[in-house]
Amino acid sequence: MTKDSTRTIPEEATKLKKLTKVTARYMEMDQFSDSYHHTGYFCYNCIYFMKPHHCAVVTDEGEDVNGRSSGVIAPHGICALWEPNEKEIR
Ligand code: SF4
Repeated sequence: MTKDSTRTIPEEATKLKKLTKVTARYMEMDQFSDSYHHTGYFCYNCIYFMKPHHCAVVTDEGEDVNGRSSGVIAPHGICALWEPNEKEIR
């Protein structure tokens, strides 16, 4: 799937194709939960992030690589699919 097609497919259509957090190597870094998320490798400035706490390609549910189930994609999370969103990066 190309980045462009991911951005144009409606949320409903992409739901079944989302990856689990473990597959995407997702994790949350709690020590950065109050950080400025416009710089650094954060979900917040990834092109797939959907404010306030979802991702277009990774599910909200399930355990992350640390065995935790937060039920969201956090702004201070990160995964192996991270791609810079030039509109958010400062
Ligand atoms: S880094 Fe990007 S692709 Fe990975 S979970 Fe966060 S928002 Fe989604």
